[in-house]
Amino acid sequence: MASTIGAPRGTRDLLPDQTPAWDRVEAVARDLARRYAFARMEIPLFERVELFARGLGESSDAVSKEMFRVAGAAGSDEERADWALRPEPTAGVVRAFIEHGMHVRPGPLRLSMIGPMFRYDRPQAGRYRQFTQWDVEVLGDPGPAVDAELIELATRFYAEVGLTDVVAHVNSIGDATCRPAYRAALVSYFGAHVDRLTDDSRRRLQVNPLRVLDDKQLDPDLADGAPRSADHLCDECRAHFRSVLDLLDALGIRHVIDHRLVRGLDYYTRTTFEFVIAGREGQQQALGGGGRYDGLTELLGGRPTPGIGFGIGLDRTILAMDEQRVTLPKAGPLVAVVGTGPADHADRLRVAGALRDAGLAVRPDGSARKLGKQLESAVKAGAAWAVIVGEELAGGEVTLKDLATGEQQAVGIGSVAGLVRAP
Ligand code: AMP
Repeated sequence: MASTIGAPRGTRDLLPDQTPAWDRVEAVARDLARRYAFARMEIPLFERVELFARGLGESSDAVSKEMFRVAGAAGSDEERADWALRPEPTAGVVRAFIEHGMHVRPGPLRLSMIGPMFRYDRPQAGRYRQFTQWDVEVLGDPGPAVDAELIELATRFYAEVGLTDVVAHVNSIGDATCRPAYRAALVSYFGAHVDRLTDDSRRRLQVNPLRVLDDKQLDPDLADGAPRSADHLCDECRAHFRSVLDLLDALGIRHVIDHRLVRGLDYYTRTTFEFVIAGREGQQQALGGGGRYDGLTELLGGRPTPGIGFGIGLDRTILAMDEQRVTLPKAGPLVAVVGTGPADHADRLRVAGALRDAGLAVRPDGSARKLGKQLESAVKAGAAWAVIVGEELAGGEVTLKDLATGEQQAVGIGSVAGLVRAP
């Protein structure tokens, strides 16, 4: 026997018993996108490496360690791996915004998409090499109201999928005016304690000192004493942050200020936020996160346009739903169509078609087995009802059988949908 081939490390197959939860979270995300007036937008799953290098920063983990590179066909111009699978969507969205001259559209632009992201990271629970995000981006709105609106939107998403105790961590990391002084304060502070830093943090201190605060291994006492960005904001950034916090208070959104929340990518400015289950901070990875990126469009060659967005990890959202034993809304009843005649398949398929016209989920039995066997299979497949096609079909009737109670009655095809949907 030939050896079998497994799925690539860090990827998952979603089997039919797992997909109802996915259908649910995707439906909630799409419906929220509609209610919050976000339009769907799609971009390729891969882009030029250079886009990510410039947009996310060479020093970010996503670029320096986790790029999933893609090469063209052997012998082609793209044989060198100049493309990478997208680790996050914002750089691609902003690339498309510039490429299609979208700044001329009536703004602010509110965009939404659901799709896979790829990071060549070490796989573990809740961390995959291919994972799915619901992403929203707003271009052309400097906030602060939209900052609060996005945090409120994400909070509402978690509530609507059935999660409890989700808390928003928020921070402001300033802008090009005040960040340099804050960086300098961090360099001077951590520089005096290099011996207590991990190797990774020592490297971060050289290239992007804010990211030392992101290091999960950072000595907690050292972290507590570190300079806080909120204390180093310029007047405009301080007023902006204050307004975001006031709006969150006014809306009753559960949040805490998290001075270590700098996020891993270079492009963030001002508001940063992440969502975690309260009391589980540190023990688990975030369920989602985002922030403002007012400088990114310019960095990628477009005209200055403020931006803000978030990415919600659907894999982790579903893991948290499993942990909290969230029950999914019940799916509609499944109807099996079975037949008494071995050669009545045209009738079965016609009846199935009529029931589907009425909106029902229908599974016709395609076998020539005895009726009893067909009914057994229907129960195993999860059908709540069987529609038995027999001689009465000539008069437009079928037998409707309740598979839980065994009761059955002759009914007109047109009344089946009403009867199986009745509470
Ligand atoms: P980030 O931009 O890294 O904060 O990612 C946003 C969200 O995507 C995170 O809060 C996670 O919920 C999710 N996420 C990021 N990386 C992974 C991964 N490797 N596996 C699963 N989910 C992830």
